[in-house]
Amino acid sequence: MGQAGSHPRLVALHSQISGCRRCVDRGLLGTALPVLPAPVFAPVVLVGQAPGRLEVASALPFSGRAGKQLFRWLAEAGAGPEAEARRAIYLTSMTKCFPGPARSGSGDRRPSSEEISLCQPHLEAQLELLRPRLLLAVGQLAIARFVGSRAMDQLIGRVFDGAGHELAITLESVPPRTGSPWVLPLPHPSGASRWLNQPGNRSLLAAALARLSRLLAALDEGTAP
Ligand code: SF4
Repeated sequence: MGQAGSHPRLVALHSQISGCRRCVDRGLLGTALPVLPAPVFAPVVLVGQAPGRLEVASALPFSGRAGKQLFRWLAEAGAGPEAEARRAIYLTSMTKCFPGPARSGSGDRRPSSEEISLCQPHLEAQLELLRPRLLLAVGQLAIARFVGSRAMDQLIGRVFDGAGHELAITLESVPPRTGSPWVLPLPHPSGASRWLNQPGNRSLLAAALARLSRLLAALDEGTAP
């Protein structure tokens, strides 16, 4: 898979986001420790929900157990081993700071709509700078942001444009460019994902990874329109 290089404007944006304390100032978070990827200028951007405790400790997105599963999926789709995928895909999230544990005691707290809205300018600035060809929306929050809220089984295994319209993709052809990135939704890779644990949904995930493989190959070969 093609590799990407770093870019001074991306480095500057990361430095700006790293200094953000908006959620602390609003009393929404006790501490703000934005987790950002290496500043790779990649044509593929992956947006998840929010970093977890392990990501804060390592200062690396998707470095926990869910991340390991995600990298297995990406490898299955042809993105190579984790180190290679990290160099070729810009990994970020809807909110950049660990929201803390869920009150139920199971998993992490889902970021509030206020946190999402405060963090949105950072995500917009990242996308504006990177202008990805392919956007991987991982988990319900990111999927809702990029293609709208629909049942997961109507989304996983399909490819959309930036307006949430489904695009046709076959083994012979990839969708036309529409001025917005192709959006491919993926379920959250956490073992706690109830959707993923339903056997019938595994085939939808397999279809999503097959489509991802096709799109990555088209970008790599330069045959993408
Ligand atoms: S979650 Fe986003 S907006 Fe909130 S403090 Fe962290 S970087 Fe800033």
